[in-house]
Amino acid sequence: MKLDLTFLLEHENQTKEAEAFFDLSEITIGSSQVRKLAADPLVLTFYNDEGKKLYVSGSTKVTYQTVCDRCLTDTEVCVPVHISEEFEIADDEILYDDEEGVACIEENHLDVDCLVKNEILMNWPSKVLCKEDCKGICPVCGKNRNLEECSCDTFVPDPRMAEALDVFKKFKEV
Ligand SMILES: [Zn+2]
Ligand SMILES: [Zn+2]
Repeated sequence: MKLDLTFLLEHENQTKEAEAFFDLSEITIGSSQVRKLAADPLVLTFYNDEGKKLYVSGSTKVTYQTVCDRCLTDTEVCVPVHISEEFEIADDEILYDDEEGVACIEENHLDVDCLVKNEILMNWPSKVLCKEDCKGICPVCGKNRNLEECSCDTFVPDPRMAEALDVFKKFKEV
């Protein structure tokens, strides 16, 4: 959704609120597409500071369907979104002055999808697990070890992998 912010230009030193809508029903995370399952409503708060700066803030959360990084079963990820942006105002135009970011604003229209998407990408967890102690997939027979035990010899020459397997053995002994 592109939200027309022109109305804010004439309301100096006032706080305004507007409900903002975004789609983002499918986004790409790394190399995989994830599908949106649910999202809380998003109300944006605007403050025009002396006609020089515009502050935009708001929070929501969005839930996506993805897969567990270890066992590949369907897993839901709820991503928090906290928007807190600052725009310059000059000659009745809202400008975005940030070298690193994507502008998300053009001709006084705020691109809400762009804004929310940036936040989702930033807050996406580095590791998605179906549960804390997901045992993953057996590298030998390919069975999901959360569902069934297998008797494979899972000795792996790679020391990093071996270390991970040790951890699982310890869990079993407890
Ligand atoms: Zn898992
Ligand atoms: Zn196995």
